[in-house]
Amino acid sequence: MSRVTTQFTGIIMYRQDYRERDLLVKMLTDKIGPAMFFVKNAKKRGFKMTADILPFTHGTYIGSLADDGLSFINVASDTSQYKNIASDINKNAYVTYILALVDSAFRDGQSIGGWFNQVAAALALIDKGLDEQVITNIIETQLLTAFGVAPIWDQCAICGRTDLPLDFSEQYGGMICRAHWHLDEHRMHLERQTVYYLQRFATINLQKLNSIRINKGTKYRLQLVLDTLYDNQVGLNLKAKRFIRQMNKWEQKMGKLTTND
Ligand SMILES: [Zn+2]
Repeated sequence: MSRVTTQFTGIIMYRQDYRERDLLVKMLTDKIGPAMFFVKNAKKRGFKMTADILPFTHGTYIGSLADDGLSFINVASDTSQYKNIASDINKNAYVTYILALVDSAFRDGQSIGGWFNQVAAALALIDKGLDEQVITNIIETQLLTAFGVAPIWDQCAICGRTDLPLDFSEQYGGMICRAHWHLDEHRMHLERQTVYYLQRFATINLQKLNSIRINKGTKYRLQLVLDTLYDNQVGLNLKAKRFIRQMNKWEQKMGKLTTND
């Protein structure tokens, strides 16, 4: 195990009670990826870093980072909470899921390269009001690689053609062209729009994204594809994901889906 005291950028992922007065705070850091911090006396009245370690807060911290075991925060500066995420149940649910996905995809205490900025950009965009499902779908698409599933999105997985209509095949691990559709009777039968967005999602840089609007039907089908891949290929069963599914059912029951778009 190595330990270093340094300045880092972090996002609070979740917290849990530890003993009577202390907290364990899981953060996503730019230096060592996900890391668990022991914060002594965090639940004591008058604790000076209370606002700096609230859920959905991001900022600059100085602390002692351990690549194995618990890390510590000494000082926090320039912290702010994603206010809209913290106060909106939908945004809150999707961001909780994004952070849980990232937590499962990467090992604690190890650099995650460009992923920190991509996740920070996703949260900033959701906080700003961009469609939380779409932003989450982009993260889901790109994280597949981190889970060891690397679908071929941009060409036929069998022959490499790009000029024919493509459809997704789980069996072949990616898109297959019309000339090869007969080889997989269980191909997903995606229509053009869904294929187009999946290809875009796989490569989009969230730090350069300003707006994105996708119609409800296409969004529904995109989610279906990603759920299938996560259920069958990745095999995760995250509480945060189950909550989103439940929430969407409630919304359907309340007929909310007909008020927008
Ligand atoms: Zn082909």
